[in-house]
Amino acid sequence: MKLLHNLNPPQKEAVQHGEGPLLVLAGAGSGKTRVIVHRIAYLIHERGVPPWQILAVTFTNKAAGEMRERIRHMLGDGETPLVSTFHSTCARFLRNDIKSLGYDPNFAIYDDKDCERLLKDCSAELNLDEKRYPVKLLGSSIDEFKNQGMTPFDVPADSPYQATLARVYRCYQERLKRCNAVDFGDLLLLTVQLFEEHPEVLEKYLKRYRWIMVDEYQDTNPVQYRLVQLLAGERQNLCVVGDDDQSIYGWRGADIRNILEFEKDFPNVKVVKLEQNYRSTKNILDGAWHVVQKNRGRKPKRLWTDNPEGESIVYRTLPNEWEEARLVCREIERFLSEGGDLSEVAVFYRTNAQSRVIEDAMVAASVPYHMVGGVRFYARLEVKDILAYLKVLDNPADDVSLKRIINTPPRGIGNTTVQRIAEFANEKGIPFHDAMLEGAYGPLLPAAAKGKVAAFVNEMEGYKALSEKLPLSELTAAVINDSGYYARLKSLPRDEGQDRIENLQELVTAMQVYETGPGEKGLADFLEQVALVSDLEHEGDGKKASATLMTLHSAKGLEFQLVFMIGMEEKLFPHARALENPEQMEEERRLCYVGMTRAKKRLFLLNVRRRHIFGQEQMNAPARFIADIPKELLDGGDLWQRSEPSHNFSSSSSSSHNLASLFEDEMEPEVADNEVRMVPEDGEDGIWVGMKVRHAQFGPGTIRKIEGEGDNQKVIVWFNSLGGPKKLLVRFAGLERA
Ligand code: ATP
Ligand code: MG
Repeated sequence: MKLLHNLNPPQKEAVQHGEGPLLVLAGAGSGKTRVIVHRIAYLIHERGVPPWQILAVTFTNKAAGEMRERIRHMLGDGETPLVSTFHSTCARFLRNDIKSLGYDPNFAIYDDKDCERLLKDCSAELNLDEKRYPVKLLGSSIDEFKNQGMTPFDVPADSPYQATLARVYRCYQERLKRCNAVDFGDLLLLTVQLFEEHPEVLEKYLKRYRWIMVDEYQDTNPVQYRLVQLLAGERQNLCVVGDDDQSIYGWRGADIRNILEFEKDFPNVKVVKLEQNYRSTKNILDGAWHVVQKNRGRKPKRLWTDNPEGESIVYRTLPNEWEEARLVCREIERFLSEGGDLSEVAVFYRTNAQSRVIEDAMVAASVPYHMVGGVRFYARLEVKDILAYLKVLDNPADDVSLKRIINTPPRGIGNTTVQRIAEFANEKGIPFHDAMLEGAYGPLLPAAAKGKVAAFVNEMEGYKALSEKLPLSELTAAVINDSGYYARLKSLPRDEGQDRIENLQELVTAMQVYETGPGEKGLADFLEQVALVSDLEHEGDGKKASATLMTLHSAKGLEFQLVFMIGMEEKLFPHARALENPEQMEEERRLCYVGMTRAKKRLFLLNVRRRHIFGQEQMNAPARFIADIPKELLDGGDLWQRSEPSHNFSSSSSSSHNLASLFEDEMEPEVADNEVRMVPEDGEDGIWVGMKVRHAQFGPGTIRKIEGEGDNQKVIVWFNSLGGPKKLLVRFAGLERA
């Protein structure tokens, strides 16, 4: 039978397992995801299970996309099961049934920045000291409560501090609800609440989804676990697959016990172990094992593989991050010249801030790439502004979006007016929108302010009318123009406005693509996709081969022939905050294992002696993981002993203890978007890659590459006016430093 071809005996056993709980516990690359895919196909083809009875959940959009693709490949076109992330699955359930919890089905999904705004309001309302309770800390505490499945009323007030957090949480939750909005944590928490408080709703889903599969089960947090339990119901047709060595979301509340204690919670469980790795060469697999086996809190297990020994793992130390990035580009070129495929190349980094230099180097070397996560297109200022108009049209109760646009672009509606309206809304416990109508037509505001607010209300009503006639892309174009937003960007200096105008054009293009795609459902659906799919912008050109740049965290479950792990330096990776915390250090180690086991054929571990990052210069020792890899597996491993002093020092003051670095990799590097690092390179006087310059004809630009020396020195400059690069002879270009 074809569906069982290319499966080893334990894989077959898992695929053919009938009803009842199933746990597949196995190391990286042993075919766990493959088991899920084949099992789904098997259930449909051999057991006659209707596809719509199957629900498969995984962690990232990319992983879900790949799984869907693999299933489609096996089943051909036709009805497919629901394969999606926890968050999208829950969003879908809530759209149908959130009414039972007193929200409107057209609720908005707030991102971190939106949530911060609400938290600021709450903090002000409760008169909190921002030093003692920084907004980011409040946000992460609330997030943690939600991950643990706790509502504001479940938070124990066992200290004054905790009691305050509970009060903030309550205020925040009330405000979200008033805005008819949910945050990411709510998607899960509210779904669990919905199912627990409304058994009839749960019953509906139990009738529908009779076969549940969960990939990357080791990373489920308590609220996700509860959800899985609820959906499994009494039938317990639940198949979970995971690897305790790859648990990397402890910081988001994932609880490794979920996997280790599955056997207790589901006593009839069938457990299948897989021991053969099909992905990596022997060298890579062994190297990775040596790194992870140092963890103490781990079930001993070791994979074997029939694959060849393969090349050594390459370890290199470079002078600085530019050289590191160039080595990556050179090696990619070599790989391509050997006939390699660019879509089989990935560069992993520990924090998003490292991506910028790699990106610049790739632009200079003309290596096509796409970035997963990172600076999200939809999180850019101008894109968010315009989306806020659309969100208000979709959900007028969305206070955060409405406040964002009421005076953007400026229409003379000042802070006092906004505050007046907000106070009125608070007094009456009504949405800002309703209070604004009062401001426009009632006695709330003085005449001048009243007129301006009324004009804005009119303007919005105009868009509302348009939204009923025009397709989304045209509606959006109308908003960009008619609101005066476009004119305002035009009035900015060219290098400030142009990028933003292009981003808005890109937004309209994204909508056009969306409109011509299958299953178009209009504004609300588009907004939901935007909220949930952080890398939507890149999916469109997914056909074109390009290298993948991503954080180690988002690399889970994927595989590539050629993998680079950059920034293998103490304080960066392992992350500074793990240095004094053994548990977190074990998680960093697992993260290293995850990264290494993504590689099929060739693996590079890179670090630098001097790095400019987070606005400082750092000199860190090589990551401790390198020393754990036996020398005979490593090309360049002998450098480890000879390289920089092995103690860990930094040229800057102790950055690891400030909050910014604590939250670094959870922050959206929003502003960093257009910033180019100004880092002089050794040995090049006067100009450097990243330098901002001005040209008499082309205007401002950024140097992306320097070639040659002396009279023949050339530079490639990216000019904003051209929206592209231009090669110039330095001697004649007359470039000025901008
Ligand atoms: P991870 O823990 O990294 O998510 P995984 O256990 O889910 O890994 P898969 O991605 O399912 O592993 O499989 C790894 C690779 O091995 C894939 O390319 C898959 O197609 C291949 N593979 C798995 N099982 C077999 C098999 N029996 N025969 C041939 N190839 C296989
Ligand atoms: Mg997998």
